[in-house]
Amino acid sequence: MEAAKDPPESGKRRGAVTVVFLAALPLLLLVFLFANRAASIAADTQLWTQVKQQSPPRNASSGRDRLLGGLLSPDFDGPSCRSRYEGSERWKPSPFPVSSHLVRKLREYEAHHRRCGPGTAAYRAARAQLLSGRNGDRGECRYVVWLPIQGLGNRMLGLVSTFLYAVLTGRVLLVHEPAEMEALFCEPFPGTSWLLPPSGFPSLDRGFWSSCPESYASMLESNVIGYDYDDDGGGKNASAMLPAYVYLHLENMDLRLQNHTFCEEDHRALDRFNWMVLRSDSYFAVALFLVPAYRDQLGRMFPAKGAVFHHLGRYLLHPGNRAWGVVRRFFDGYLAGADERLGVQVRVVPQSHTPFEAMYDRIQRCARENGLLPQVTDEPFAGVVNGTANGSKARTKAVLLVSLKPEYYERLHGTYYANATVSGEVVTVYQPSHDGDQRTESRAHNERALAEIFLLSYCDEMVTTGWSTFGYVAHALAGVRPWLLVPQDWSKARDDDVACVRPASVEPCLHSPPSLVCRGGGGGKGLDDPVARVPFLRHCEDVGFGLKLVD
Ligand code: GDP
Repeated sequence: MEAAKDPPESGKRRGAVTVVFLAALPLLLLVFLFANRAASIAADTQLWTQVKQQSPPRNASSGRDRLLGGLLSPDFDGPSCRSRYEGSERWKPSPFPVSSHLVRKLREYEAHHRRCGPGTAAYRAARAQLLSGRNGDRGECRYVVWLPIQGLGNRMLGLVSTFLYAVLTGRVLLVHEPAEMEALFCEPFPGTSWLLPPSGFPSLDRGFWSSCPESYASMLESNVIGYDYDDDGGGKNASAMLPAYVYLHLENMDLRLQNHTFCEEDHRALDRFNWMVLRSDSYFAVALFLVPAYRDQLGRMFPAKGAVFHHLGRYLLHPGNRAWGVVRRFFDGYLAGADERLGVQVRVVPQSHTPFEAMYDRIQRCARENGLLPQVTDEPFAGVVNGTANGSKARTKAVLLVSLKPEYYERLHGTYYANATVSGEVVTVYQPSHDGDQRTESRAHNERALAEIFLLSYCDEMVTTGWSTFGYVAHALAGVRPWLLVPQDWSKARDDDVACVRPASVEPCLHSPPSLVCRGGGGGKGLDDPVARVPFLRHCEDVGFGLKLVD
């Protein structure tokens, strides 16, 4: 009788087991020799696997990174906010790496917001304290309520700056959403809301202004708060006895932020309040880099200083589904198929009395001098061989022209519609809307404006108008250094002026630098130009006294 032989499959199985055992031997030895270390390797491996599962690295069809290098949390459902991940896929890969410290701070912020946000027990307790009229003891959950003001570009700059302030000071950002902003932006933090609940705040309707009694400057003046206080003694200067909230006024006042807003001692005093209301139309994030207490955190979050809005804007500001529908339809229908996309943003404010011909000439000159648009010719078939340029398909350039007025589009479109180009390139010109005037109180108008900011941000190159926060936001989101049309004051313009300038970074400009005359001796008359002593600050190309971050 033949000894029972293993069936061939079982032999193969045993062979496979042996191979696996031999392959695993070094790992087993490691386990015996370095049990703890191996356990930590295993834990790391598990964590890494989770991270990989959570962050689908790239969209297979577009090859683009949907989570923007870890900026975006993967914990959202798609349909409630289509733009969040679809938007990432339309941007070109960012030229600015995201630091791991920034990613960590964002995830920590999100967890904190979930613990303290509307609907939580912590929020209810903090609100009860607010309504009591007294600040109370320092809580784990402290808030900054952002109030919108001015046009959309200003609002986006103020909102991103307030978010950065919240991250730096351990506060939770709550947004007051007036009717004209309803669902304009998606919720940016997973599993919670950033909206201030209706009737969530006392005296919001009454309004706040720079010298109202709740403003920080007024409180300093009337000695409601001072720089010296005694929390341990629990006396009359103790934080618990302060009013229930403070209002921080960071609006552009005479092109200067208010005194007592960006000194170290002021930030220590402001830190004593559990609730803060903040209103700003400015990119005051720049000024936060001047406060010594925040410098270390900011340095680690943003090793590249020239990409602060670029990253935070992409993280925080996602168009709601209505505005996103406009972006998608327009982008996919008119722009996506072009070989190149040029954005041209023409912002003409009525006070500037800009003559149309002069502005149009400046745009043309800027485009010509910098090779942004091809020259036209009277020759109807220039550059075309056998029906197509050089025998192959003609290159196409789509120009997205955004402006409240239609005439710039009409002239440019007419030029490239009626004439061939010397290079044989086909230039198509589009304008999504021309509402005529700014109508910030209209939701549909704001949706169109937001859609156009995003459409601009998907362009390869951009010509924008100096001083315009609308343009700043678009190029900063894109990560593209634009060509800035200057000047603003047309009464002083000369024909031989340079048509446009290239800024040093993609960052927006802070039009209203803070006063740095501080109690501790920072600043002082004649010394309060931070550009002289902060290496990553410059004056803006379009606003001489403005400040911007650069690398
Ligand atoms: P800024 O005044 O140029 O700094 O930009 P803002 O965005 O703060 O304010 C201008 C507002 O006017 C925008 O928010 C829009 O409401 C409107 N607006 C200006 N230019 C355009 C444009 O090109 N397209 C659209 N749709 N709206 C615009």
